[in-house]
Amino acid sequence: MEKYSVIIIGGGPAGLTCGITLASAEGKFDFMADKKFLVIYDEYSDLDKALLNNVPAVEKGTKGKDLLEKIRKQAETYPKLNLKKGKVVKAYGQKGNFTVETAEGERFTGEYLVIATGFHKFEIEGLDVEVVPHRKSPRPNKIMIKNQDGRVRDGLFVAGLVAGAPTMYASASGSGAEVACDILSEWAGKTVVVHDVPDSD
Ligand SMILES: Cc1cc2nc3c(=O)[nH]c(=O)nc-3n(C[C@H](O)[C@H](O)[C@H](O)COP(=O)(O)OP(=O)(O)OC[C@H]3O[C@@H](n4cnc5c(N)ncnc54)[C@H](O)[C@@H]3O)c2cc1C
Repeated sequence: MEKYSVIIIGGGPAGLTCGITLASAEGKFDFMADKKFLVIYDEYSDLDKALLNNVPAVEKGTKGKDLLEKIRKQAETYPKLNLKKGKVVKAYGQKGNFTVETAEGERFTGEYLVIATGFHKFEIEGLDVEVVPHRKSPRPNKIMIKNQDGRVRDGLFVAGLVAGAPTMYASASGSGAEVACDILSEWAGKTVVVHDVPDSD
């Protein structure tokens, strides 16, 4: 069974940003030497349907599905970030030892688990989480998982719409980055972020 430092369920803006932010810490902290990450995602993201005119730095008129493809390509440039297609049907465990099972019959273990599955439904069995009505959805019958600043309990996080973020790209993506920084900060034992600066101007 493949073992990861963090398993992220969901490959929309939230899950991919979380994975990229975590992986981008490689080489910046000693504790990153043995870390590896998995984003496991089913086919559909809300971004697949979007036409984007209001995402900063993204050219007006960009199709959401093209942006998603671009982000996946960026994610694939990080050797310790693995992207895998699969539908998670069961997840269980606690900090240090979460197990995730897919409909395709694969199993993975992770030290941390991040749920970034969007706000339509939550049907993954085995996790003791409280599913409640989404607090910021313009449409009825959308859900989120009850959490405190992205944390459900020790080792278990939520990001993006399933965490209660408004249904905007920047909000979902930012939520994924925030969870990544929280996990990195736990490993660092202090508050950290991941920044780069140019060699010269
Ligand atoms: C029609 C439309 C137009 C939009 N237009 C704009 C816009 O103009 N500007 C803007 O800022 N935002 C727009 N948005 C909103 C934006 O697309 C969302 O806010 C964003 O996609 C939410 O990101 P997320 O990662 O939280 O969820 P999602 O993008 O929904 O991603 C959820 C991920 O979880 C995966 N998943 C779910 N369950 C499982 C499971 N059991 N196992 C494995 N994977 C699973 C899905 O396959 C997907 O990869 C639009 C959305 C729609 C629908």
